Amino acid sequence: MCVVGSANLDLVASTLRLPAPGETVLGTDYAEHAGGKGLNQAVAAARAGATTTFIGAVGRDDAGRFLLDQLAGAGIDTVVERSARPTGRAVITVDAAGENSIVVVAGANAEVRVTAVPPAEVLLTQLEVPLAAVAAALELARAAGTRTVLNPAPAVQLPDRLLPLVDVLVPNEHELGLIGSADALIAAGVGAVVTTLGAAGVRVITHDQEWHVPPFPVEPVDTTGAGDAFCGALAARLAAGDPLDLAVRAAAAAGALATTRRGAVPSMPTAVEIAALLAR
Ligand code: ADP
Repeated sequence: MCVVGSANLDLVASTLRLPAPGETVLGTDYAEHAGGKGLNQAVAAARAGATTTFIGAVGRDDAGRFLLDQLAGAGIDTVVERSARPTGRAVITVDAAGENSIVVVAGANAEVRVTAVPPAEVLLTQLEVPLAAVAAALELARAAGTRTVLNPAPAVQLPDRLLPLVDVLVPNEHELGLIGSADALIAAGVGAVVTTLGAAGVRVITHDQEWHVPPFPVEPVDTTGAGDAFCGALAARLAAGDPLDLAVRAAAAAGALATTRRGAVPSMPTAVEIAALLAR
């Protein structure tokens, strides 16, 4: 399968409390790790067992090299442009209560262009790269008979002409609220709307069916990356030939497992772990 999307270096500073405007506070910890919805979901798909190609852009800088190494380390093929702009970054401050403030600088991600997609069963994309790239990816995939999965995050009003190009739309509740009702999206041509409801599970609506998938019981320690784990695993299972209901169950298991570990990339579950939770 193929993922078109963003890749960021996340810079995470921990402090006791977030600084007010103009204020300097002392930090208690610092870490850097790979992120961006595109990269996270590509890693999630690969861990879930899919042969995965990532299409995106990074800068000609150390951060860009680091992200390419991370993708290669996860066994992911890359079609990544080295842009003259800096690698995308998320500058994150987290306080002792877990509250955060985040500045995302798109950098090279704003330069992602899609002129071809490799032959694949499934194409997965999000909205952290230009809408023109998302549209081109969906159009090329549709023309090649590739199934399309769009995670509309961060949410924007989607142009009407894109909706019939989306086989499976995967918003969370908040994103769905910004985009429109599931019924209206189906009427406009989306094949299925799979809404993630956090600890309440998943709701699926197609043109002729509607069902709810209960959450897998887990003890969450960090919900970062649950949505990305879900999207990556869903696309991976669809690419493997699962019908939508089985793929959604596997994705819900992957999302649940991701909440039991810290971070996004390190918390993506493997196919074996997903199968074990499904069998329980
Ligand atoms: P996002 O991070 O995009 O807001 P969600 O929080 O909806 O995504 O999580 C994605 C999916 O992960 C959920 O639909 C659910 O299947 C699973 N999940 C998330 N949180 C939990 C939880 N506390 N317990 C069990 N499953 C969860």
